[in-house]
Amino acid sequence: MAQDSLWETPAAKTLRAEPGFELDQLDRNSTPGFTGNKADGERLLEERGAVLSDLQELLYANGRSGDSRSILLVLQGMDTAGKGGMVRHVIGHVDPLGVQHAAFGVPTEEEKQHHYLWRIKKALPRGGYLGVFDRSHYEDVLVVRVHDLVPEDVWSARYDEINQFEKELVDAGTTIVKVAMFVSLDEQKKRLEERLDRPDKYWKYNPGDVTERGLWPAYQQAYQAMLDKTSTEHAPWYVVPCDRKWYSRIAVTELLIDALEKLDLDWPPANFDIEAEKARLAQS
Ligand code: ADP
Repeated sequence: MAQDSLWETPAAKTLRAEPGFELDQLDRNSTPGFTGNKADGERLLEERGAVLSDLQELLYANGRSGDSRSILLVLQGMDTAGKGGMVRHVIGHVDPLGVQHAAFGVPTEEEKQHHYLWRIKKALPRGGYLGVFDRSHYEDVLVVRVHDLVPEDVWSARYDEINQFEKELVDAGTTIVKVAMFVSLDEQKKRLEERLDRPDKYWKYNPGDVTERGLWPAYQQAYQAMLDKTSTEHAPWYVVPCDRKWYSRIAVTELLIDALEKLDLDWPPANFDIEAEKARLAQS
């Protein structure tokens, strides 16, 4: 299906992190490729959400018929970037039956006993599923790097290892849609203030978020390195400015639609004799 005309260039083209991309040049309040306003964006989210839902049903139907292909959406971003909202407002359009959601926090005692990809491998989507990672294996080259949780020679070897791991996933039929979500320092402050001002948002506030905020430059550097080293042909990063939530949500909706359309799915044929079943049903 064609992109809505309000996209002057498709999200998958505009947002892709190409070699030489400079994160400090990114305007996090911008709406790359999109010519509409907030009202257009909100309307489009509903329209394109319905398209996404139909495509996801096709994926699921094919999975039920033995197709081993899947989609994995990786959401990576600082606190308040809007990862949770992305799941609610974008993935919320599709049938939860076909979604495999996983969130990755500080590793548990059990997870710490294993290789960092262990918990990731356990959460990978099966054929026909849309997998969603709220944070991911990239924490192991982000928070781990910023806080020196392992020595440099250990985390620096992980970029290649992750590329290799993702290549194997792609070869086995998973399309990986990696979304790096960026809010500005000012917008993050506003969102954290709101969490402190509103009783319905206290639960989202974590004093540690302010500590991480103090490490902003180190995080930006770690994100830049992640984009430089792991935006590959087989699994590119898409860089999404997130100060305007309505924009980030339609952008990710388009990225998912694009990935699903590329699978070129059709309804699976019946694996039974249709006429015979009609006759049996009529007689029943
Ligand atoms: P959120 O803050 O996204 O609501 P949680 O509070 O459950 O979710 O956990 C997120 C925290 O876990 C973040 O601070 C993140 O950096 C941290 N985290 C995730 N993966 C790792 C990891 N591999 N090592 C250390 N910390 C991690």
